[in-house]
Amino acid sequence: MNLQDYLDEAAAVEREGLAAFAGAPDLEALETARIAVLGDRQGRVKALQEALRTIAKEDKPAAGKRFNETRSRLEALHSERKSALERSRASARVEDLTLPARRAWRGAKHPVTLVIEEIEEIFRELGFTVAQGPEAETEWYNFGALNFPPNHPALDAHDTLYLEGEGVLRTHTSPVQVRTLQTYPPPIRVLIPGTVYRRDFFDASHAPAFAQVEGLCVDEGISFVDLKSTLNRFAERFFGASRTRFRPSYFPFTEPSAEMDVQCGICGGTGCAACKGTGWIEILGSGMVHPSVLEAAGLDGERYTGWAFGMGPARIAISRYGIPDIRILYDSDVRFLEQIAQ
Ligand SMILES: [Zn+2]
Repeated sequence: MNLQDYLDEAAAVEREGLAAFAGAPDLEALETARIAVLGDRQGRVKALQEALRTIAKEDKPAAGKRFNETRSRLEALHSERKSALERSRASARVEDLTLPARRAWRGAKHPVTLVIEEIEEIFRELGFTVAQGPEAETEWYNFGALNFPPNHPALDAHDTLYLEGEGVLRTHTSPVQVRTLQTYPPPIRVLIPGTVYRRDFFDASHAPAFAQVEGLCVDEGISFVDLKSTLNRFAERFFGASRTRFRPSYFPFTEPSAEMDVQCGICGGTGCAACKGTGWIEILGSGMVHPSVLEAAGLDGERYTGWAFGMGPARIAISRYGIPDIRILYDSDVRFLEQIAQ
């Protein structure tokens, strides 16, 4: 075969081969075309390679170069077309519209986090900022500065987790009140969310580690009226409560102290299982900051007054979502958490 005929033949093999691959509608047709063009036994490229033998010696380099180009172009287009057909077969497989949809995994906030964020949002509107502090505390910040007498039962090792050497895992978020009063001059309005630790057994209503939210307001001329009006406003926003009541109570760090109840939203005050028949639901402890707490933090207890409150968002989450056992909140069972996810 002379060189020109060979080059013409190579061009024809290339052109027809490319057309066969590009036109193959599916993988089966492509395989048939591959055998006809690139097949080892009877393929046209194989025939072209054998025809090289009939080329005169001086024309062999040019013919061989053309042969190599032809083969590599055809191989490249074949593998490109093959991948494209495989991809479309894979996507065609999930185009069955009768299949149930595969739901994407969606993360969500924990119910206790949702409650804390809602509380924060309401107090933010009332001019409060969020403050945080360490969970491993000194005994002075956890008890001494908060007016706990040295023989108070809370200091007992049966109630408090003492750290080796010195210090405790804080039993409430109140040490952050003292740290805030030491760091910033009044007026102070802070909300203090955080984890606290008690030496409690894990049962249906107790956990050894749980969330707490406290609030603190200190300035000149702050009175119990400010406490009641602010907390009433909160109860109205958070619980939709139309009525609240304050019952005298006792905490070392406030004087006077009061428990705050909201009227049961389920029975409207007539008594039901949710409120244990009383018509009221206890939501928080509060009181006027004891002057010795202000003094311990370095403030003038004659000049400044303030009020504080503390509540447990886990208990609020339990009553809000009708959860029967507090341990469910800490199990990280996605089947449960998904029901509350927003
Ligand atoms: Zn009720």
